[in-house]
Amino acid sequence: MNYLIYPLKKMNITQGYNDNYSHSLHNTGNPKDYPIDDNGGTSKKESYFYCPCDEMVIKKIYGVGLNAGNTLWLESTSKVITPTFTDYVTIIIVHPNDSDFKNLKVGQKFLRGEKIIMEGNDGKATGYHFHISVGRGKCSGTGWEKNSNGIWIIKTTAGAVKPEDAFFIDPEFTQVISMKNIPFVYLYEEENNLKYWYVTKSLNVRLGPGTSYKCINSLPENTELTILEVKDSWAKISDREWVSKNFLTGDKPRKIYKTKKTTAASLNVRKSPNGQILTIKAPLMPNTTVAVMATKGNWTKINTDRWVYSSYLA
Ligand SMILES: [Zn+2]
Repeated sequence: MNYLIYPLKKMNITQGYNDNYSHSLHNTGNPKDYPIDDNGGTSKKESYFYCPCDEMVIKKIYGVGLNAGNTLWLESTSKVITPTFTDYVTIIIVHPNDSDFKNLKVGQKFLRGEKIIMEGNDGKATGYHFHISVGRGKCSGTGWEKNSNGIWIIKTTAGAVKPEDAFFIDPEFTQVISMKNIPFVYLYEEENNLKYWYVTKSLNVRLGPGTSYKCINSLPENTELTILEVKDSWAKISDREWVSKNFLTGDKPRKIYKTKKTTAASLNVRKSPNGQILTIKAPLMPNTTVAVMATKGNWTKINTDRWVYSSYLA
């Protein structure tokens, strides 16, 4: 899974986005971003920024030879999973030194865990550190814009996000010295909480873990399910219902369908509300899991062209 994790081996945040120093100009203006400063655990110049997801590409390098703080723009090459969204992310890093920037070029790609750049003190930095801002989506325009306080902030297609909404802390990668009271979550909390799965393509429900078992229903894309057990590539979703796990994802889609269970001994499925009775994957047995896509009068739509009488669902 393409989780976005905190990019330093040691987290020692010296200024959060809410601390009342230079960053207050970022988060009180309009628009805002939410930078953190991290010195990597020591005042020495020794910490690297590591690629925090499956792959990132350098979109822009700014400031070499200028008085302004050197700035690097990184963009993920695919959607990443964060504690609050699944999307592309863009990260800007300020203060690397000219001597380290010389090794980088726009278009260069890095795989998860690879070293990208060393911390620095270019610009008006008080010591060696990374100034890091995250935006959801791809790099937009020139990658930054001036806010109402006259401060340059990150510009992405979906806007700046708070660091705790963007990065998980992977305790096997990052040692935490100080979070500066920012409520980061650990990656294992997320994995244990992966409670719901979502159907990625209309899929058959069978009475056992394999295509030889009888098909008793179908569930539409975006149905929310819980998995009770996994056998080979099959997921058990109730006492006797199994679906192919290849068509389930942990990534929550924008639209989701909750499920209900049938209560009738045998429940007819119709092509439309009170319409033609179907015989394929129908009638439904009691306790069959159905998606609730829509309702119309006394009828519930459970998949494309499949409707049942709502009173027999609970
Ligand atoms: Zn800063």
